[in-house]
Amino acid sequence: MPQPAGTDAELRARLQAIHERLAAAYGLPVLTRTTDPTEELVRTILSQNTNDRNRDLAFARLRNMFPTWAEVAAAPYAALAEAIRQGGLAEVKAARIKQALRAIHDRSGSYSLSFICDMETEEALRWLQSLAGVGPKTAACVLLFSCGRPIMPVDTHVLRVCKRLGILPERASAAAAHSLLQATTPPELVYPLHINLIRHGRAICRARRPLCAQCLLADLCRYAAQKGEVPER
Ligand code: SF4
Repeated sequence: MPQPAGTDAELRARLQAIHERLAAAYGLPVLTRTTDPTEELVRTILSQNTNDRNRDLAFARLRNMFPTWAEVAAAPYAALAEAIRQGGLAEVKAARIKQALRAIHDRSGSYSLSFICDMETEEALRWLQSLAGVGPKTAACVLLFSCGRPIMPVDTHVLRVCKRLGILPERASAAAAHSLLQATTPPELVYPLHINLIRHGRAICRARRPLCAQCLLADLCRYAAQKGEVPER
């Protein structure tokens, strides 16, 4: 199975080449506006183990039924779970959301998580991951999308594509994948690579039957080389 490409310098060079090809194909994403951190945290908790559509439906219904975070925090668990049922794991996520809101309120006296953007990155990651059910991906989403920090969220698409490319070891855990990509991805590439790896994972490097013959990264890909699927250029 694919192994990491080698030294940090080699990995950085490969990530740069991958970024350039993906940007040429999908465009260069630019983070033009940040999201509210509390909203981002709740939305990312809702995204766990479901797709974007169900996450968005659950989030919209939550905000419709409980327009303020104070109302969400005060809502009975059963009512909260019912509001977010579409997102799956409703009871678990309802508990995580209430616990997170309580921790935010304990820390800041309000339901604003904006203090997280004033923390040092490592401190912010630690604080977020001290919340029940918040792992490295959710913490990275808040810091990247709400604070504009160059922290790579490693979702299922990023993890799969990077493993196949040989950027990540095949058996890398989610935590290890975050650490490795954080250490090797140039900060200015974090946001565009995150977005474009997801686009590529959805369109070409799909979980089942990746379309290697059509892939613009095939000659850079360990998986394609091992499968003998590198097209002639
Ligand atoms: S060559 Fe195949 S496995 Fe490699 S990135 Fe492209 S689609 Fe994925």
